This record gives sequence, C-alpha cells and structure tokens, in this order.
Amino acid sequence: DRLKDSKVYMRALFDYVPLEDKATPCQEAGLPFKRGDILQVVTQDDHTWWQAKRVGDSLFTLCLPPVFPACLPTEDCDCEGYFNGQYIAGLRRSFRLSRKDRQGSSGEGSDPGDSDYLTYEEVTRYQQRPNERPRLVVLIGSLGARINELKQRVIAENPHRFAVAVPHTTRPKKPHEKEGVEYHFVTKQQFDADALNNKFIEHGEYKENQYGTSIEAIRSVQAKNKMCVVDVQPEALRRLRTAEFKPYVIFVKPRVPESRRRQPLTPFEDEDLQEMRQSAAQIDQQYGHLVDRILVKEDSASACAELRGILERLERESFWVPLSWVR
Ligand code: 5GP
Repeated sequence: DRLKDSKVYMRALFDYVPLEDKATPCQEAGLPFKRGDILQVVTQDDHTWWQAKRVGDSLFTLCLPPVFPACLPTEDCDCEGYFNGQYIAGLRRSFRLSRKDRQGSSGEGSDPGDSDYLTYEEVTRYQQRPNERPRLVVLIGSLGARINELKQRVIAENPHRFAVAVPHTTRPKKPHEKEGVEYHFVTKQQFDADALNNKFIEHGEYKENQYGTSIEAIRSVQAKNKMCVVDVQPEALRRLRTAEFKPYVIFVKPRVPESRRRQPLTPFEDEDLQEMRQSAAQIDQQYGHLVDRILVKEDSASACAELRGILERLERESFWVPLSWVR
C-alpha cells in the first residue's frame, strides 16, 4: 500500500552495486541500479538508507544509498570504513565531474538536483499537452556520427512539423542564400556583442568566420509550434536544460565494430575507430547522466527512421523529466 502511495521517483545518476558496498544494511537485498534507472522511493524515513523499487520491476523494497551519504566524498576524506572503496571512488568521480561541468556555467539549470555531486534527480512523468509548445530535441554526437546530416534529413522529410534553429554567421551571404533561412548574417562586431551578452547556446569558428546558434532562434521555431531539433556540443546542455525548453537529449554514436582484425585494414582505419570509441566514451562519461536516449547509428537510413520514430513518440507519449520542469 505504501508503494502505491509513493509518488517520489528518482533518476539514478550513478551506477550502484550493493554487493560491493560493505556499509549497506541489506547487502543481498540491496538494489543494484544503473545510471538512468528510475527508482520509486517507498520510504525516506531513514536518513542513511532509503527503500525503493526500480520502476518496471516486480521486486519490492530494496535498499539504496541516500541523496546525502553520511560521509561526503571529498579529496581529504578517507571513508572506506563507511562505504567501500569502489562506491566512494564512484562518488568521487561523479563529484569531480559535476564540478568540472559547472565551470564557466552561468548557473541556469546546470546541475541536476543542484547537488555538489551526482546522486539522484527527482523526476515525474510528463506528456506534452496540445496547447503546449513542443519540446526541444537536442542531438549530441560523438566523432563519426554525422548528426547534422541526420538532423537535416529528418527535418526535410517533414518541414511542417520539425525545424532547425537558424544559426548566426559572420561569413558573407552566398547568392542563393536568404537572410534568416540558411543563416542570420551579421557583422563580426554584432556577433561578438551577442556572444558577450550570452545570446548563443554555443558558438565557434570555422575558416575564420564565426558561427553560433542563439536562444532566440530556438524560441522562434517553438513559437511556430514546430519541434525544434538542434545538434550542439554537449556543453550547451547547461544552457538548454530548463523548464522552458524541456530538452529531450539523444546521444548519437556510430556503431564501432569491436575488432576488424579479420577484415583487410589499414593502420589509419584502426586509429579512426579508436578515436571514435574514445570520443563516445568521453561524452558518455561526462554527459551520460543527461541523456534520455542513445541512438546507435548503423547507417543513415536506419538512423533516420529511428530518429523519426522518437520524434513522433515525443509528441504523443509521456516521458520522465526532472520534477523541477513541471512544478
Ligand atoms: P557553411 O559556411 O559552409 O554554411 O558552414 C560551414 C561550417 O560552419 C559547418 O560545417 C559547421 O561546422 C559550421 N557551423 C554552421 N552552423 C554552426 C553553428 O550554429 N555553430 C557552430 N559552432 N558551427 C556552425
């Protein structure tokens, strides 16, 4: 009955293996979970341990470590007596990550739970209502994923429902281009001023010209009641993870074969694969806790079909979002 009453849901932001945690009061019954799992919290009576079940499991009340472990995982704390080494090492890693993540952040909606290290984020089911503006779809991709191409293809198939945010650039307009269609063409002076005023979710240089996507460009797509799809550097998630945009984050990574030793292979190809693997691992480690969905790209056509399916479901199904976005 208590379980039925509980409306507290948490998304775990780290992996937890109770059998490796000497401090748990219920090692065998402890609840193993992975980053991204949704946990329904049954009791929070005990400050040291909560009881919860994983959504989708029929198993009942298991233990999980609380939001604030009794001993904070700081550099000079050696709390192996309380939590086992691996667990502490994990928390320390998350702690460092979230601090790194914060650097340079303007503080808006940056860290889930506003906690000093990654533990849990309180979530709720959310479904876009017909009068609400569509959620923002954010694609982040690791090396080799070619997400711009993916984005353009899916939008071109259905331009009435989906659109890109038109970026700003300082490069000259080409004859076939129109202001406000391919780009907003601005002077370097204007671009620099906009960048200084934090107008861009991200910006960068390419062949000595500046390019950037503004918050306004996203808002203007949403104002037309279209679903805005952006592909950005994952750092931009700090600015975008707000109640206003309710971003649904898709991490696109290319399928990288484990080993191609049996196929003819040049050393160059091998290096490429290695770099692709590293790039995916790095994004996963730093930003994995902010990702709603991983799309493993086999080929362009199947990735497009999968992305189209996700966008369609976003409009008609409910998804877990941070509670702070709907309160
Ligand atoms: P082009 O000048 O050929 O239209 O674009 C050249 C390159 O500019 C693109 O391939 C892309 O790398 C970069 N670019 C285009 N839009 C943006 C943007 O909004 N932000 C950033 N950082 N780069 C962009």
